[in-house]
Amino acid sequence: MEKFCFSLTDYRRRPSREVRVGSHRIGGTAPVVVQTMTNTRTMDTEGSVAQIDAIARKGGKIVRLTTRDEREAENLAPIGEGVRALHPDVALVADVHFVPAVAAVAAKTADKVRINPGNYNDRGGKFEELIDLCRERGVALRIGVNHGSLAKKIFDLYGDTPEGMAASAMEFLERCRALDFHNVVVSLKASNVRVMIYAYRLLVKAMNEAGMDYPVHLGVTEAGNLIEGRIKSAVGIGALLADGIGDTIRVSLTEAPENEIPAARLLVEHYEARPEEHFEGVDESKFSAYCYTPRPSGKTPVLWSEVENGAEYEIVEAVSHHPVQEWRSKIVGREISKPIILSRTYTTTDKEQFAIEAAADFGVMFIDSLADGIRILNPNFSQEEIDEIALIILQAARVRISRTEYIACPSCGRTLYDIESTLADIKARTSHLVGLKIGVMGCIVNGPGEMADADYGYVGGLPDHISLYRGKTLVERNVPQAEAIDRLVELIKADGRWVEPKEE
Ligand code: SF4
Repeated sequence: MEKFCFSLTDYRRRPSREVRVGSHRIGGTAPVVVQTMTNTRTMDTEGSVAQIDAIARKGGKIVRLTTRDEREAENLAPIGEGVRALHPDVALVADVHFVPAVAAVAAKTADKVRINPGNYNDRGGKFEELIDLCRERGVALRIGVNHGSLAKKIFDLYGDTPEGMAASAMEFLERCRALDFHNVVVSLKASNVRVMIYAYRLLVKAMNEAGMDYPVHLGVTEAGNLIEGRIKSAVGIGALLADGIGDTIRVSLTEAPENEIPAARLLVEHYEARPEEHFEGVDESKFSAYCYTPRPSGKTPVLWSEVENGAEYEIVEAVSHHPVQEWRSKIVGREISKPIILSRTYTTTDKEQFAIEAAADFGVMFIDSLADGIRILNPNFSQEEIDEIALIILQAARVRISRTEYIACPSCGRTLYDIESTLADIKARTSHLVGLKIGVMGCIVNGPGEMADADYGYVGGLPDHISLYRGKTLVERNVPQAEAIDRLVELIKADGRWVEPKEE
């Protein structure tokens, strides 16, 4: 049995079978495909077509839509007509969470149907019916598991863990295989980047052991917005792409969906056309891929700008096209007595690209607990800007918490308020708090489950009404939105976790 589902020292793409989604190919020899999701109401034909047009103009050719009920599933047909008149090559994906009958209607129109096994109540052979419909029209299926919404029987066995997520996906993949249906893609998303990475690694290992080669869709849920959202996604998605895992990606941002496409492209391009390179072997017994093992020193990782005496550290520089494999070969199983600082130099002048590349390279090294410090060099940016990027990378890897973390959903057709401007308002009031996690979620249906381990939750309950959570516990239901941020602050104050912002 293989120890790891990827090579520690050689970059190669995981072999996967090809799946067709409309005119697109995912897996096989196809390049990694980028995709996104609308946040319009799926009953709003015109608005949805306009948004998909904006997405397609940015290069997003696979677009998912929330599909809550049979009416929305039926409305995919006129949306598809409108979209194809503008962009004949755009493929539409129906996102179905709960109702098998909705998936069945969607399969008559969409190019792909996503179901969440945790929510998919398919007593009575409904899954088999869906597979028949998919087979008839050549529709692809995504088995899309989310951390925080596992089925009860899986939860009871494994808890809400990476193992549970992988097991949930494997159960449905086995069912597809038993039905000889293979037009299947699989995802295991989480907002906690560590959970997400371990879950995908466990899934790929389980698929390899079961002789399955289904393509993998990667994403970090509720990553937030701006530079934080991009870095958090890049740490999670990049960790897997660096080891050749992943055939299609979505960078979920709490921003206009078309903004996700260039961010995803930057990430994909970071791995494209890398020459083959081999690094010296490492001692595999010294590497842990599926759960977190803290560094022996137990110390919080340092930034290079904080280091007073560099001689006290071992600087491990990566200069090749494969920094992750190069760093591993220089660290794993080697006798290094000093704390290790990872170093790499970038020359890009674009901040978004720089942040995404550095996050994709460095993040996984801290997830895998191989370093004690970070030195990112780029002559085009100030030390302050570089430190900000480094701190967000360390926070995404959960090894150094220096700011409030926002677990914000990207919004979709279920969203009950203007999440982008609300997130900005919540950040303005709370971003000075250190180490709190605040969930900002668009709907009560999936929000509470998917805001993971947030300390507080701001969740759309009814249109323009917000329900507030402390952890997973509902504390105030349906507060008018105009009062909701004040009430959130009061809640944090009542818990003694509030500090006043410093005067500028
Ligand atoms: S939490 Fe609700 S509103 Fe937000 S993306 Fe998920 S389903 Fe949509």
